[in-house]
Amino acid sequence: MDDARRNFLKGAGGAIVTAGIAGAPFISSQAQAQNAMAAAGKLTEHKLPDLDYAYNALEPYIDEQTMRLHHDKHHHGYVNGLNNAEKQLALARGSGDYDMVQHWSQMAAFHGAGHYLHSIFWKVMAPPNNGGGGTPPGMIAEKIKEDFGSFENFKGQFSAASKSVEGSGWGILSYRLRDQRLIILQAENHQKLTQWVDTPLMCIDVWEHAYYLKYQNKRGEYVDNWWNVVNWPQVEEHLRLAMK
Ligand code: MN
Repeated sequence: MDDARRNFLKGAGGAIVTAGIAGAPFISSQAQAQNAMAAAGKLTEHKLPDLDYAYNALEPYIDEQTMRLHHDKHHHGYVNGLNNAEKQLALARGSGDYDMVQHWSQMAAFHGAGHYLHSIFWKVMAPPNNGGGGTPPGMIAEKIKEDFGSFENFKGQFSAASKSVEGSGWGILSYRLRDQRLIILQAENHQKLTQWVDTPLMCIDVWEHAYYLKYQNKRGEYVDNWWNVVNWPQVEEHLRLAMK
């Protein structure tokens, strides 16, 4: 990597960009960098969503320390990573230099999937006996029965799929628009194996950081206990929105 390229990449993480790339505009000030960014299209400023409940509200099933690390460190890292990846892609459009487009596309997928799945994950949980746990209400109960045969069938498949995700990943309940049905997906890591057309309704994080402090290697126990904090009215709301 030559110096100009290194400066470009280094600068792209901060305010001032120095791009000495043949055929690309030479950007040497913050104002010029901002102009190049503006010409590259609108950027979304992704933000870490607040939790709707206290860090310890999901005890005893999910412990406070895990929630603090998971939300404040892991999820925040995804938000920052997505903002940076999208900024780098905008800078690439602005300069016409796409040498790093594969890397930043992968980073955007990795951090983007992380950000959006965690945003769903926090929402689909609620304190046990205060909105969390139990069985689903109304229309989502009917839809689950229609598409899986029974709630027990659904719960069995969702638990088994989540426990058997290879390595890090997620179990996901999704709405498939093409044939208007619910499906259960496994996401290894989370930037892979998406079906793209689906609308995730509910997900469980089975990366080790989601349970290791409390459950160590016993992912199965974590998944079994997780049902005590599922926020079913919220999952139903997601289905209602997806079906619109
Ligand atoms: Mn996680």
